[in-house]
Amino acid sequence: MNFSRHLLSRYHKNKRDLPWRHTKDPYLIWLSEVIMQQTRIEQGTPYYEKFVSAYPTLVHLAVAEEQEVLKLWQGLGYYSRARNLHATAQLIVKEYAGKFPEAYADIRKLKGVGNYTAAAIASVCFGLPYPVMDGNVLRFISRYSGIVESIDKSEVQKRIHAFVSDHIDHKNPGDFNQAMMEFGAMVCMPKNPDCAHCIFRKSCVAFKNNTVDQIPARNEKATIRNRFIHYLVITMTFRGKDFIYLNKRTGNDIWKNLYDFPSIEHNMAQREHHLPENEFNVLLKSNRPEFLEVSDQYIHLLTHQKLHIRFYRFHSDRIIELPFFLIPLKDIHKYPVPKPVDLYIRGNIFSKKLDFAQKK
Ligand code: SF4
Repeated sequence: MNFSRHLLSRYHKNKRDLPWRHTKDPYLIWLSEVIMQQTRIEQGTPYYEKFVSAYPTLVHLAVAEEQEVLKLWQGLGYYSRARNLHATAQLIVKEYAGKFPEAYADIRKLKGVGNYTAAAIASVCFGLPYPVMDGNVLRFISRYSGIVESIDKSEVQKRIHAFVSDHIDHKNPGDFNQAMMEFGAMVCMPKNPDCAHCIFRKSCVAFKNNTVDQIPARNEKATIRNRFIHYLVITMTFRGKDFIYLNKRTGNDIWKNLYDFPSIEHNMAQREHHLPENEFNVLLKSNRPEFLEVSDQYIHLLTHQKLHIRFYRFHSDRIIELPFFLIPLKDIHKYPVPKPVDLYIRGNIFSKKLDFAQKK
């Protein structure tokens, strides 16, 4: 039996029953692929189900408010994926009358759609033989072929792409691509691959050469940038009602179009428990809200950044004017916020629960 038949036969016997494997609707396949990028299946599946329920068709997604889409995405990270999904749905409605483009070149041109996602949609939905190349496929084929050079090199990726192109099943490229990814995820795993039960162990070069644990090789990791963020959580009571200031993030920094609190940022660590008072005074101007408490430091890791975050709680019993959004405190849960802010609001960063529903 050749490589492709071997792989497909195993896939049809053992594949996981995932919700998007029951459809060839390009909108749903696109949605599932975007959600699953950089995300574990167990974490992404509930998001896929929430999105399908809120936006059953591409048109439903296109007419939604961006803020609503970001709110639904909250907690999944890499928020540019949600912004691109929304913008691309609007573009497909405008330029393709709401019908998903079928040609690989047109799919690839869509915002936020790279080679991987375009190949997945083209093969699963339209039967086109474009190989998908995700981390699972790179790992599996680099081991199978015994490639000891780094898989980050474009020349190595081209070799693996050529291997997969040569072996792709032209009758069923969608299943073949899913079978490749599934094999990498379930058998040829990053740690402790199941070589003992692997259907390819007789032809796998890494297994034969006893180099499985050295492949795939990777380039040195990029350096991590440390950022020290001091959030000012400023609540205000006016005519018996509670309000809070939120900041909408703009520009090309992390969490674009999400909401957080007014903040001051340093590149250097402040001494423990040292309030960056001067900067607070600049931000608060002549306003003098009462300082209540400071949170523990919370560390949040992003791909190339390490965020060191503290929340400083202030309250005022009179009106103060600051250049941020002033919203009723009870509405704070309607806004899309990054994970550390969500954790703070839910009381998970303080050692004791901070009840945002109650005036301090
Ligand atoms: S024998 Fe081991 S390393 Fe080789 S393809 Fe199978 S699981 Fe991967």
